[in-house]
Amino acid sequence: MTGPDGCFGDGRFGDGRLGDGAFLAAAIEQARLAESSGNLPVGAVVVLEGRIVGRGHNQVYRPRHDPTRHAEIVALSAIPEELRDRFREMTVYTTLEPCVMCAGALFLHHVRRVVFGSSDERAGAESLFGRLPRTFQGEAERVAWEGPVAPDECDPLRERLFELVAERREGRRGSGGR
Ligand SMILES: [Zn+2]
Repeated sequence: MTGPDGCFGDGRFGDGRLGDGAFLAAAIEQARLAESSGNLPVGAVVVLEGRIVGRGHNQVYRPRHDPTRHAEIVALSAIPEELRDRFREMTVYTTLEPCVMCAGALFLHHVRRVVFGSSDERAGAESLFGRLPRTFQGEAERVAWEGPVAPDECDPLRERLFELVAERREGRRGSGGR
């Protein structure tokens, strides 16, 4: 894995600290877990002081249909209660550029850095920056929205997501609608 900050490879910086590559690899692991559990291949982890404090994978279809269970939301929900006043110090790593719903959650919780593996030109939130309500605009200006940092690894996951969504749509049509 290679990245603009030079810390990819084995995922560590020269001083042995875990870098973006290692955390993105953990997010990719979550994406694989999502797909193997019958969901869409998107994964996320939340990092504070070089430590993963929340992991999440897409759970929109299983165990039960819940349209809000995107990887980023699941990972934010997994953060221990005692760390929840430290969102400003956290970085969210996700395999796919966050959607508008997840960007809203990230802004509301004042997360200041988001690193994503693959960009999402169809549903990624970046195109909205500059057209947000004033409260959110302030947050959007402060958040570092970094990506795509790992298209080689994460674009195939995104393509698989589009395929799975299309298959479900076709399946519903084939069985006489939803
Ligand atoms: Zn989302």
